[in-house]
Amino acid sequence: MIQHVRVLIVGSGFSGIGLGRALLASRFSDFLLFERAPEPGGVWQSNTYPGCRCDIPSHLYSFSFAPNPDWTSTYSPQPEIRDYLGRCLDRFRLRPHLRTGVEVQEARWDEQDQLWHVETSDGPWTAQVLVSAVGPLTEPKLPDVPGIDRFRGTIMHSARWDHAHELAGERVASIGTGASAVQYVPEIADRVGRLYVFQRTAPWITPHDKRAITEAERERFRARPGRQRAERAKAYAAKELLVLGLAKRPRLMRLIEGLARRHLAQQVADPALRRALTPDFTLGCKRIVPSNTWYPALQKENVELVPRALREVREHSVIDADGVEREVDTIIFGTGFHVTDIPFAEQVRGRHGELLSAVWAGSPRAYLGVSVPGFPNFFMFLGPNSGLGHSSMVYMIEAQAEHVKNAVRALDLSGATSIEVDRRTHDAYNADLDRKLAKSVWELGGCRSFYRDANGRNATIYPDWTFRYRRQAVRWKPGAYHLATGPVAGSPTGSPAPAPRPAASAESKDPS
Ligand code: NAP
Repeated sequence: MIQHVRVLIVGSGFSGIGLGRALLASRFSDFLLFERAPEPGGVWQSNTYPGCRCDIPSHLYSFSFAPNPDWTSTYSPQPEIRDYLGRCLDRFRLRPHLRTGVEVQEARWDEQDQLWHVETSDGPWTAQVLVSAVGPLTEPKLPDVPGIDRFRGTIMHSARWDHAHELAGERVASIGTGASAVQYVPEIADRVGRLYVFQRTAPWITPHDKRAITEAERERFRARPGRQRAERAKAYAAKELLVLGLAKRPRLMRLIEGLARRHLAQQVADPALRRALTPDFTLGCKRIVPSNTWYPALQKENVELVPRALREVREHSVIDADGVEREVDTIIFGTGFHVTDIPFAEQVRGRHGELLSAVWAGSPRAYLGVSVPGFPNFFMFLGPNSGLGHSSMVYMIEAQAEHVKNAVRALDLSGATSIEVDRRTHDAYNADLDRKLAKSVWELGGCRSFYRDANGRNATIYPDWTFRYRRQAVRWKPGAYHLATGPVAGSPTGSPAPAPRPAASAESKDPS
């Protein structure tokens, strides 16, 4: 039996929860959140590696409408963020809308029905609106090197940590030096027998100002929420200032490079090691990673920095780019995610039956990172060029939730059956992005980063002030979208009449 829901949201992290809350706040309740994992929370549920925490200040990395006075640290550890999201689900009354353990396998827009046909592990569904809230840091990526399948020891990815596996005394290779590895390497260094840290590119490491939030401070936040809002505003302003260097005047990043160089000089005395740890690109071109424990960890007796790429894996060993072989029991891949080649794009077919990934042809683009011409009634969270490296993604997510809610409302109020972004608006928006990207550190900084797509374009980062993005996303511009009733002319069905909708709906629409 085909089941139906008006709005089907895939994912239950910050994005899914943010949209669910926005829809309920506008008295729209006919939606479901499908979560493939057994528990909600998205990346904050799946990333459990030792030392996992947010490197954006806690007061900023949370919903503006749901401040949490109970954070125990100025940079929240993963379990607290996961629990916070659980509390948000309760507080916003989203639990009845949540279906965990349900994986979306394929989605196809049916022009005749004016509906999305969605194959899931729970059987077939239809939906009027499909929302991808799966996020860009969802699908773990292993490096493209031969032999990984042949390895006889244990393999894990930072986002799929095997806590049952005891690392004590083992010979371990850790691959990668991004934000994840910089957090877990210092946590495991004392536990393992020998640790080889493979570094293909040295990251910029800045001093970390993390500290505990005292009970007295938390009490004050509870008693006077305005204080916490002020902390949030301060953190936002400090982060936003970085946009000046990142997106407008990359040369300004040298000021922070000085800070990072001093940090390196203070923590690493050996000149050869210091050289190996000195980045060769402008700070900000890749994510800036704060840590006070990374350099000390690399200098422990049992730790060896291998300043080369992993080239090959054999049954019991890893081979570096120079051909040196090291025997290991476990390999930990801190090698990131499929970001610009996100697998969800391989599962969604638009008006003409084409896959989203085929339309993008290696270079994802969208209007506001949210909508794509040819994909009616489909919206994404943190899609192309709506990510941030310097500040809170939750800020962008809130803006996108407002935008998608407004689109759903426009559809609902008009009685139309489809809403689709105007191609010219989409193209003009992307031309503007390209102009801004050309001047940015991500373009001029001389690095290779996961922000770039298969064609070398930065398809990940929003290259401007985030408040500008917010204003654009939140203010509804009716001309940016086309509303239509029934199949549009020139679409593949040939029939103008919309088919009747399936009668059964998972949730009934709020009558008001
Ligand atoms: P990442 O930044 O993509 O880093 C992947 C690392 O793997 C890079 O250092 C890369 O080297 C390396 N690598 C890939 N193939 C390799 C090979 N064959 N040999 C050696 N090294 C190889 O991944 P991540 O650390 O998981 O971070 C991803 C994103 O997650 C972050 O940028 C951030 O947005 C998010 N994150 C956030 C937090 C937080 O606190 N909020 C914490 C963790 C992660 P190259 O640099 O040479 O490419």
